[in-house]
Amino acid sequence: MATITEERILEALRRVRDPEKGRDLVSLGMIGGLTIKDGNVGFSIEVAAERGAAAEPLRKAAEQAVFALDGVTSVTAVLTAHSAGGGAGAGRAPAANAPAGDAAASAAAPKRSGADRIGSIVAVASGKGGVGKSTTAANLALALMAEGARTGLLDADIYGPSMPRMMGVRGKPTTADGKVLDPMNGHGVKLMSMGFLVDEETPMIWRGPMVMSALQQLLQDVDWGPLDVLVVDMPPGTGDAQLTLAQTAKLAGAVIVSTPQDIALLDARKGLNMFRKVDVPVLGIVENMSYFQCPHCGERSDIFSHGGARREAERLGVPFLGEIPLDIAIRETSDGGRPIVAAEPDGPHAAAYREIAMQVLDRLDAGAEGPKPAPKIVIR
Ligand code: ADP
Repeated sequence: MATITEERILEALRRVRDPEKGRDLVSLGMIGGLTIKDGNVGFSIEVAAERGAAAEPLRKAAEQAVFALDGVTSVTAVLTAHSAGGGAGAGRAPAANAPAGDAAASAAAPKRSGADRIGSIVAVASGKGGVGKSTTAANLALALMAEGARTGLLDADIYGPSMPRMMGVRGKPTTADGKVLDPMNGHGVKLMSMGFLVDEETPMIWRGPMVMSALQQLLQDVDWGPLDVLVVDMPPGTGDAQLTLAQTAKLAGAVIVSTPQDIALLDARKGLNMFRKVDVPVLGIVENMSYFQCPHCGERSDIFSHGGARREAERLGVPFLGEIPLDIAIRETSDGGRPIVAAEPDGPHAAAYREIAMQVLDRLDAGAEGPKPAPKIVIR
């Protein structure tokens, strides 16, 4: 099978013409963020904000042109629009100050990137909202730090950023050069969230193309490094935004959060499949709200279908990372701005999260070793 190279992809995209401008996408400088992972290709197409959905046929044509290449197994192209001059108001992305047109002057140009000094990016995802994804992401980040890893936490849940509140951090991030933002600090973890950049009261209405551009900037235009691990609290669900983020963020792995009931429903499996599709290793499943811990007597009662995640993980051949009980203390501490791992570092819940963190670190180490070399064939 032919190797997929940047040149071959750009060559294919040179054959796609923007009908509005009469020239091809590459010479117009519209292609950016090109990523290639095995046969999976991702890139963005920069269009003027007012074109919006009208550019959808162009996006499809670009995807098809690349998909037709020998060796390509999946293509995800997203439309991005810079909001030069403010544009959509509520949907203003951070530091979006490059004039439209020169963004991604060339996909091959070396990019300044805050993400370059991050050892591993780990996504925390769920098939649907409300299962405790953000709570798990916050506590996992704190537990990784407790295990000695330099840790950052990116709240990519731009529709409902909860990390500022959950990590008890207020204020606006500063920037030294007007381009790269300094992350905030939450209990020792470097933190960035759209919640710091837009007014909490402002309803955030994201037009499709802006989502990716905002997420990419939260990743790239923040002075993250050096970090061992960046935990990304993914937007809930398994749609296009999640898929592209999984592809462009060069994820080292993903942790799926599920409640005992949801695993039986298809939601968590959708999450699994999404990461498999883009070749991101699933580090494991966490069963959240696994059993009920009585706040008065400490007695444990199992919840209907408790253990479902462990069984399902076994069935799907995915590691089971652990179970976190439904405990009012977990809710109160994270809703109060000091997640349980920071609030009660010596308690049993912090120990459970640290156990999950250790497994995540072990799996990342194992992944970093890469595939074993093929055995030598000796012909006698
Ligand atoms: P998601 O990110 O999946 O939408 P959140 O992490 O915001 O979910 O959690 C939803 C609500 O459930 C929050 O109020 C949170 O404090 C609470 N919660 C999450 N996990 C637990 C748990 N294990 N025990 C008790 N409450 C929890």
